[in-house]
Amino acid sequence: MSDLADALWHSGWYRFARPLPSPNFGPRPAGAQIDLIVLHSISLPPGQYGGDEVQQLFTNRLDWEAHPYFEKIRGIEVSAHFYVRRNGELWQFVSCDDRAWHAGASSWRGRSNCNDDSVGIELEGLEGETFENAQYETLASLCPAIAQAYPTAFIAGHEHIAPGRKQDPGAGFDWRLLREQLGWDGAMFPAATLDA
Ligand SMILES: [Zn+2]
Repeated sequence: MSDLADALWHSGWYRFARPLPSPNFGPRPAGAQIDLIVLHSISLPPGQYGGDEVQQLFTNRLDWEAHPYFEKIRGIEVSAHFYVRRNGELWQFVSCDDRAWHAGASSWRGRSNCNDDSVGIELEGLEGETFENAQYETLASLCPAIAQAYPTAFIAGHEHIAPGRKQDPGAGFDWRLLREQLGWDGAMFPAATLDA
């Protein structure tokens, strides 16, 4: 790991994120090539922003009876590595050295089970709606930091790695803006996002 990565990361935890450890992870397979970033969107209840429900879900502390929607997801154990609030605030739940449970059944760049070798980032939002500039700004610093520490070669949405099953982050996510901000080669992005 480079000196810069050393300064940014400690055991897979990013220095500029608020840590809130989740139990929803396991070890990565031996020799996992952590070369994929997966972007998601989430809000609880869907479309309502600013509460603590996502952090509660990712740490198995959500009150399933607090809202009718929560009954539909009762008992699920999930967490991304990161969560970016509407105001750009960044939280981390799982060390990037570990395998967070964010993608489920999935396949990308010829490999299935993307949880094995990806870093998952949830954006506070809703499929079809747009995202805030502050969230893109956070991604513009977080993604290069991930690439400093892990051999990042691909970035995709949940909708790309689990087509037909997942729709997040959705059509409201501006892939072109992200690509411009990161300055990463188009080959790192899903082909479908390059026409946007
Ligand atoms: Zn997702």
